[in-house]
Parts: sequence; C-alpha cells; structure tokens
Amino acid sequence: MSDYKPLVGKLVINGALLCLTGLHIGASKDTLEIGGVDSPVVRDPLTREPYIPGSSLKGKLRAILERQKKLDSNRYSGQGVNRHECSKPTCPVCRLFGSTSKEKDEKNLPARLAVRDLRLTTDSKNLLQGIDTGLEYTELKFENALDRVSAAANPRQIERVPAGSSFDFELVYTVETEDQSQIKEDLGNLFSCLRILEDDALGGHGSRGYGRVKIQLKNENPALFARKIDFYRTADAEEKKKMEKVVQAFSSLEEVLEKVDEIAAFYGDGQNV
Ligand SMILES: [Zn+2]
Repeated sequence: MSDYKPLVGKLVINGALLCLTGLHIGASKDTLEIGGVDSPVVRDPLTREPYIPGSSLKGKLRAILERQKKLDSNRYSGQGVNRHECSKPTCPVCRLFGSTSKEKDEKNLPARLAVRDLRLTTDSKNLLQGIDTGLEYTELKFENALDRVSAAANPRQIERVPAGSSFDFELVYTVETEDQSQIKEDLGNLFSCLRILEDDALGGHGSRGYGRVKIQLKNENPALFARKIDFYRTADAEEKKKMEKVVQAFSSLEEVLEKVDEIAAFYGDGQNV
C-alpha cells in the first residue's frame, strides 16, 4: 500500500464538557507536591488551573471504541494499561486514534483525531475562584478503603474538580480521503463514543461515581466547521464560504449523528481533487 496520504480538509468540533459529578484526573507521581493531598488533580503549571489533558479524553474514547469493536488489547501503553494497536489503515481504532510501529515491517499510523487540552470555561473559572475549600478551584473528598482482612480503615484524600464545572473542548478530525463511507464510519464512531462516554465515566474512581460528564455542543457558537483544504489557501471571503460548511449548534449528540452523511458528502463531492 502506498504511503501517500492526501490532506482533504479538517473538521473542527467545538463544545463544552460538563461535569455532572466530581472529576478526578490524577497528576503523575513526579508532579506530586510535598505536603499535598494524597491524590491531586493535574494542573497547568503556570496558571495552577486544573485541566483535562487531551490525551486523557482521547485515551478514554479509544478504549470505548476498542471494546465496541471487540479488539484485543495487545500492547502495553504504560501505567498498567494495555491497549489495542495495529498499523492497518482499515482498522477503525488505529485509523482514528493512531498507532506507533513496534515491528520492523510496520508503519506508524498518525491519528486522524486530535484532542486539544480542555480548559475550564471562563464562567466555571469565575465560579470556582469564589468557593472556599482551601484549594485552588477544587475540593477534597475523603474515601475510606477498608482492608477486607483486618477491617482497618485506610482513609485517603482525593482532590477533584467540583460537579457543575465546565471545560471547553476542541476536537479536530483530519480528512484524509474523499471516500464518503470511510469519513462516515470515522465520524459515526467518534460521535457514538462520545455518547457512550456520557453513560461511562472520565478519569479516576468512576465506580465510586466520579467523572460523570455531559457533552454540550449547544452554545452561542456553531459547533462544527467542516473545512476543505482550499479554505486555508484563500483570503477571499466568497471563496472561503464555498470551502467551509458551518453547522450550527445542536441540542444533543444524536442530532450530530444525523449530520454525518451531510458532512461526508461535503468532503466527498470530488470538487476538491
Ligand atoms: Zn488497529
């Protein structure tokens, strides 16, 4: 198979991720602070604001798709987690989320999906600045793990972003084909994984009720920008309009799924070859 990968366009998806319950995305051990809580959340080192690393959301969506497609977790991906990776362009998981070659005859498959880091919305930032928990923007929750044999309690403090907080998100899907069925498959997979995420959990301690989230694409701004590559090559307003399809806000992810055919047809009409 040839290595040629056309760049047909980009699909930019904007929205907000609302935390319905407290969210804990743990910082790695090397960023632990002396005298800090047992299990702190990941923060921006400059602003000290908690954020959701794009890799956390992307990894969760990948795991959901792997399970949907019943793929084996054949590679160790660090931190005690295995995941599926192959380098077949026909693999729905590796095509969307990427894979790194491990064998000599394998090639890297760059991810079509990029997930930017999720930052607190301005409203949430203002709201959380006003709460008095002794921590910046977060709260502490005590969890008591009982030793099953000795019944000794082992209380731990877990830091979390309080329920009701919102994060802005941006997902960018790179369109590498004019094959409408492939675009439809990728986008169908992406939006269904986001829907499943709402009935799953993001971050740690999901089985204790943490990390229940809602994806909100309905805001004042349009949620989807489908752009053909020529959009980026012109400054002419009329030309740009032809090369971009702006889809207005949605009230639910189901509505976005209904738009997938329309979006695939926009890229797949062959006018941009
Ligand atoms: Zn694969």
